[in-house]
Amino acid sequence: MLTYVYEFSEGNKDLKDLLGGKGANLAEMTNLGLPVPPGFTITTEACRAYLADGAMPDGLAEQVEEKLRALESAMGKRLGQPDDPLLVSVRSGAKFSMPGMMETVLNIGLNDESVRGLAEQAGDERFAWDSYRRLIQMFGKTVQGIDGELFEEAIEQAKRDKGVTDDLQLDAADFRRLVEEFKGIVAEHTGREFPADPREQMDLAVKAVFESWNAPRAVLYRRQERIPVDLGTAVNVCAMVFGNLGMDSGTGVAFTRDPATGRQGVYGDYLANAQGEDVVAGIRNTVPLAELERIDKRSHDELMSIMETLENHYRDLCDIEFTIERGKLWMLQTRVGKRTAAAAFRIADQLVEQGMITRDEALERVTGDQLAQLMFPRFDEKAERDLLGTGMNASPGAAVGRAVFDSYTAVKWSRSGEKVILCRRETNPDDLEGMLAAEGILTSRGGKTSHAAVVARGMGKTCVCGAEELDVDTKNRRMRTPGGRIVEEGDLISIDGSTGQVFLGEVPVVDSPVVRYFDGAEPAGAQADDLVGAVDRMMAAADKARRMGVRANADTPEDAARARRMGAQGIGLCRTEHMFLGDRRPLVERLILADTGQEREEALAALLPLQREDFTGIFDALDGLPVTVRLLDPPLHEFLPDITELSVRVAVAEARGEENENDLRLLQAVHRLHEQNPMLGLRGVRLGLVVPGLFTMQVRAIAQAAAERIRAGGDPRPEIMIPLVGTVQELEIIRDESVRVLREVGEEYGVGLEFPVGTMIELPRAALTAGQIAESAEFFSFGTNDLTQTVWGFSRDDVEASFFSSYLEKGVFGVSPFETLDTDGVGRLVRIAAQEGRAARPGLKLGVCGEHGGDPASVHFFHGAGLDYVSCSPFRVPVARLEAGRAAA
Ligand code: ADP
Ligand code: MG
Ligand code: MG
Repeated sequence: MLTYVYEFSEGNKDLKDLLGGKGANLAEMTNLGLPVPPGFTITTEACRAYLADGAMPDGLAEQVEEKLRALESAMGKRLGQPDDPLLVSVRSGAKFSMPGMMETVLNIGLNDESVRGLAEQAGDERFAWDSYRRLIQMFGKTVQGIDGELFEEAIEQAKRDKGVTDDLQLDAADFRRLVEEFKGIVAEHTGREFPADPREQMDLAVKAVFESWNAPRAVLYRRQERIPVDLGTAVNVCAMVFGNLGMDSGTGVAFTRDPATGRQGVYGDYLANAQGEDVVAGIRNTVPLAELERIDKRSHDELMSIMETLENHYRDLCDIEFTIERGKLWMLQTRVGKRTAAAAFRIADQLVEQGMITRDEALERVTGDQLAQLMFPRFDEKAERDLLGTGMNASPGAAVGRAVFDSYTAVKWSRSGEKVILCRRETNPDDLEGMLAAEGILTSRGGKTSHAAVVARGMGKTCVCGAEELDVDTKNRRMRTPGGRIVEEGDLISIDGSTGQVFLGEVPVVDSPVVRYFDGAEPAGAQADDLVGAVDRMMAAADKARRMGVRANADTPEDAARARRMGAQGIGLCRTEHMFLGDRRPLVERLILADTGQEREEALAALLPLQREDFTGIFDALDGLPVTVRLLDPPLHEFLPDITELSVRVAVAEARGEENENDLRLLQAVHRLHEQNPMLGLRGVRLGLVVPGLFTMQVRAIAQAAAERIRAGGDPRPEIMIPLVGTVQELEIIRDESVRVLREVGEEYGVGLEFPVGTMIELPRAALTAGQIAESAEFFSFGTNDLTQTVWGFSRDDVEASFFSSYLEKGVFGVSPFETLDTDGVGRLVRIAAQEGRAARPGLKLGVCGEHGGDPASVHFFHGAGLDYVSCSPFRVPVARLEAGRAAA
């Protein structure tokens, strides 16, 4: 027979899977000898069995009975015993805490009889009737699903009738009347009387906790947070202790350090003469924990000492819930507390300095996501802010602009140089252009998987979504707060995508000190901000631990230099397409329009010195470090004018009789190069094979720039990368040409130019034939953006805005495969290519240059797959360094 029920003294903190977080920690505290009221935990296994079969598993009822008996004999009274009732709380507690799960029911065991016994024992009528009304209220709301407002309203009415404002001014008779009223509400809404049998109360509450695992909000939350669906929740049954037994009683919450800033020193709130839920509900004003020293010094000192014990034991920030019953302190909950990103770094660092944990352990306590949060620009904390409302922090950053309520206006205003925030109820694919044009996006509906959130994250735009308090009225181009304040189109607002806050007016934005530090503008020495110091020490530990290198994707000398300051050990992807834009367009057009070999060569010859200069600057910035240069990748039509604009121009000119020969030829070329699926068309290595001289010109520019740098005493380390290879034959042809050009230029300059030539792995066929391809490639770089597109068969630009949010909502995937690598599909190909490539060429250098290179979860995968380095945008380099260190530690 399975054990479904554990007494608190039988568990421990490592049994979270079985006992849930709350139960495991109650057990741990019990075994530490701390004052926890006795009780027992029904396991997650029982919950899973119940949810699978729709009935309580065999043996559970007997085991609960047995543990209840033990509890009763420990307490010397029976559950609901009329003259001296044992009361219990029934508390949900999954492995991860989760909104939407059933809330706790306190005071189970009270009924019309035992309420009198309780009053007598406590010598306090008011207390007993207050407890009873709380039971009916909580039970009605959470177990029976009755609207909580009905009970609240009844209390408000009682206060109004009596002409008082505070619950404390209601007396025993008032609560007694409320009990009658509450029972009436229950009978009316459930069609039966409030259950008077204590055991039935308990069993119904346990069942309701089990069922709340599948409550829609809990299901949605698990999906968003990627918590497995089948864990189930445990239930804790705990003997009641009473904080509402007068002014020498009370209840509170506390943290062993400040969870907002990470600063040392306990921190918390206390409320006298109250039961637990009053503190969070904000019914009355709490006092800071420090006050407790004055109110009840003995309990205060004991609490301080317990908090120290807990911190030393858990070796981390703990948060706790406690209750004082007539001068006796009881511990009701503890856990390793949640904290902000800044607090996470400060606390981990403090714990190392205090000798409680090692540096490697500290690395486990911070994440790349937290570091990324600390790197975004933020609103100046010292500036005045006028909060309008708060939504969900969907995509980080601090954005300021004029409120606009439709995509068209967003585009129009931003073209004329205005910064705008696009405010919508929710967004859909029609809003795409407006989203692109806006500084940030604000919606009043939808969660973190809504269209607005998904697309904003994909674009790297600041987004606050689901700010339900803000009533967005797109028709009248305004939004309204519950307090009746109105934001009209054109009013300045500021949105904080890291906290979800929305402010009226322009809040000044400041650079993050952490970015200033990475950029070399902020010292990390003794006088540094302690957050910067903590980050500095953590980065040193990560760099020491990590096996993978970290490079950056950068195309300009400025970006390359910045990446180097951020700690990049080279460039993993230097794109060359932007080198063909701007005032070089006419040269590219000449190349594309060339009819004869001679015309083509002239166009290429004109491009060569410009390309060479581009590379000189980058090799200079990254002297001594590898720079992987990708030969031209995008389809050629991207360098030609837009087809509609050009057609109009040609038609207008024709009408005026001013035909322009060049435009006509361009238009023909645009038609000729038009493709249905450019992503799968003439691009990458295919260009190199069909446009004679294009790739060799690029290689020559690289070779000449390198040769000049060498002559000037530099140490350039280019690596030549061929994109979109599907078969080794393509690679061989380009590779042979490249090697020939390197040799020629080397001889010309009298220097050795033996630079590696390799390829991107971004087509499934390349990954599947990696063994053959490795024969001809000196390195692989996984282009995981294209690889994701080609493996899934969807184009990012088209699908992210059209159906990803509904895929996420339906749970088809938990996260966009463009944000975090799809390890089952795309990742499998990466592993195959890595293994087979290395089998064919031992020591084959493997890197990744898609955006996944800066994504924490993906970095861990690449570490596991044995890659040599990841490459990501300069800004993500610190995140990748930290995560590569965490993966290896
Ligand atoms: P949550 O996870 O929402 O904090 P809890 O189960 O911790 O839910 O309980 C809600 C409130 O009730 C907390 O303030 C808690 O301290 C209090 N509480 C729970 N069990 C008891 C008990 N046996 N005696 C007194 N207060 C309790
Ligand atoms: Mg709690
Ligand atoms: Mg690509």
